[in-house]
Amino acid sequence: NKFEQFKLNRQLLNAIEEAGYTEPTPIQEQAIPLALAGQDILGIAQTGTGKTAAYTLPLLMRIKYAQGQDPRALILAPTRELAMQIAEAVNELSKYTDIRTVVLFGGVGPKSQIDAIRKGVDIIVATPGRFMDLYLQEEIVVKYINVMILDEADKMMDMGFMPQIRRFLEILPRKRQNMLFSATFSDKVEKLSFEFLEYPTRIEV
Ligand code: AMP
Repeated sequence: NKFEQFKLNRQLLNAIEEAGYTEPTPIQEQAIPLALAGQDILGIAQTGTGKTAAYTLPLLMRIKYAQGQDPRALILAPTRELAMQIAEAVNELSKYTDIRTVVLFGGVGPKSQIDAIRKGVDIIVATPGRFMDLYLQEEIVVKYINVMILDEADKMMDMGFMPQIRRFLEILPRKRQNMLFSATFSDKVEKLSFEFLEYPTRIEV
């Protein structure tokens, strides 16, 4: 399996194998080594390119195992559908680890989401609004979050999430790894990447 070239652990390689991935896609080929080295990444990649695994695998290596009560990583997505899809992919790739992932989105009551957070969580996948609501209700501790990923950033900008994203940058710890993925590279995405990323490597597929 060509994923063995990366410094991934056995649990992840087994999940990759089981998912039927034998060869990394171009975005994975480029992003995984850089992200494993802790770099910030600006990835220009459409859905279908394997972008989710490109950021999830390095993220899972960084998190490695369940720890404590509070999340250490945050993945933001513009829509409920995408958030659910990402959480599914994260769960599939982390199935041989004990890492706990919770998905948060609006349009449904918050109770089961709050219960899930209270049980302990390592990775939160969320739409911005619901995450912020639960943070303001003091259901989410953000001080250990040291990896943040924005997926479909162009769509988030189009949906007017920029002010919300700025609030995230204010509340999260300064020292973090950041990855921004977008299907297109527009002026808005460029502006966001200046605010959000530090010395990013740009990858385009
Ligand atoms: P994404 O671009 O992240 O939405 O992924 C698109 C689809 O490709 C998903 O169904 C993934 O499970 C699948 N996929 C991701 N990486 C690989 C790979 N290296 N080999 C085969 N399929 C993959």
